[in-house]
Amino acid sequence: MENCARCRRPVAAQPEGQARGEGASVLLNREQRAYVQRVYDGPLCEACLQEIQKAVQPVTVRDLSNFLLDYATTLMGAGVHTSRVVRNVNRIAGSFGYETEMTIFQRHITLHILQNQDDSVRRTSLRAIPAAAFNFEIISNLSTLSWQAHDNRLTLYELREQFNAIVTRPRISRWWVLGLVSLANAAFCRLFGGDFWAMGLVCVATFVGFLIRQEMSLRRINHLAVFIVSAFVASMIASLGVWASLGDTPQTALGTSVLFLIPGVPLINSIIDLLEGYVLIGISRAVNALTLIICISLGLSATLLILGTYAL
Ligand SMILES: [Zn+2]
Repeated sequence: MENCARCRRPVAAQPEGQARGEGASVLLNREQRAYVQRVYDGPLCEACLQEIQKAVQPVTVRDLSNFLLDYATTLMGAGVHTSRVVRNVNRIAGSFGYETEMTIFQRHITLHILQNQDDSVRRTSLRAIPAAAFNFEIISNLSTLSWQAHDNRLTLYELREQFNAIVTRPRISRWWVLGLVSLANAAFCRLFGGDFWAMGLVCVATFVGFLIRQEMSLRRINHLAVFIVSAFVASMIASLGVWASLGDTPQTALGTSVLFLIPGVPLINSIIDLLEGYVLIGISRAVNALTLIICISLGLSATLLILGTYAL
């Protein structure tokens, strides 16, 4: 007696030399058999074979277009530059014999998909890009998924399964992020010539500032307000060094205390987009990043006003 490779329930042994998915009362087509052989390395029970028979179906333009839009909007939300979304989506569509054209804006994606063989099979749909936190792990895994689709001719069912697994994987703990960002910002302070007093101040300032940012974001407060308040609190804490004359470089501590807020990813993406010819989205990303930088300077200016400019 062997166990089913999918649900682990006992299943009768298959006759020698018979391919998986054959010989049972459930008849699978070629695609479904290929799927079973690629994914499971043992016999499957009747119930599982029936489920697979229902789920693994030839792809329709509607399902493919819905999947590609989920895929593209998730990638854009995770903070990727535009040409990578276009390339990955084209690669997946190509593995099913379709080609795509996309219009990508800051908040929306329009996808036009068309079958290579028969251009009457086509569909155009529009989807909003959800606001999401940057996540390089998702970007890298989703890009790998597009190559797997290309190399192994994955079925849409498999793509969906793997896509859901990637998207629902738990994120790194917020406390880890908090600690690492604090240390990284202290290291920034060192790069700009701060001494150990300054580094300590920046570490504490970043910790509190970033904690406030996390808490305010969790409460869905406007992100511009979040940036102003975090920059103000972090620079206020770092200004203790100037106020109490701790160490030789308290000004460096004050200046570098807000660097953890700088929107590096949108800035880099906007440059890449501009250079690669996606000018409109490049400009919108630059404007977004600029707005955040203005908010950071508003927070920092409030501290300087309270402290008095003689401090620098
Ligand atoms: Zn089973």
